Amino acid sequence: MAASLQLEVVTPDGAVLSTGAEYIGIPGIAGQFGVMPGHVPLLSALAIGELYYRLDGKQLEVFISGGFAEVSDNKVSILAESAERKQDIDVERARQALMRAEKRLDASRRGDANIDVSRAHAALSRALGRLRVAGV
Ligand code: ATP
Repeated sequence: MAASLQLEVVTPDGAVLSTGAEYIGIPGIAGQFGVMPGHVPLLSALAIGELYYRLDGKQLEVFISGGFAEVSDNKVSILAESAERKQDIDVERARQALMRAEKRLDASRRGDANIDVSRAHAALSRALGRLRVAGV
């Protein structure tokens, strides 16, 4: 099938991806949803997780951590807080981030009142998401 969707992934640091796609799976805040050509216009908040798209018989994955998706006229714009293509994920960095978040949550469970628990949970979700997209 020819690519009839255009996918743009942008973060505050710049463009991460600009590609054609035949199908896009998006981690919306209310659950994963799919976009095929002809999709109705849509605006959705994004969860932390995996976005994937199909092109020329291949499936490619991108990590995204929150933001917004806009679907309009076969164009899908992802405005993400951060995003990395699978091959750009630094696995060791994500492992370190996971360990830091786990230590903070552990300290909080042991009564350390200086820990920002929701921030540590968000960091944990980002690290786990990156490791999952990287296939670790
Ligand atoms: P860290 O504590 O390692 O910075 P983080 O989850 O707090 O992780 P973010 O705030 O989501 O990091 O991202 C900050 C910037 O660093 C973004 O440009 C993001 O793409 C990049 N980044 C973070 N972790 C990784 C990683 N494991 N591999 C590649 N890029 C990463």
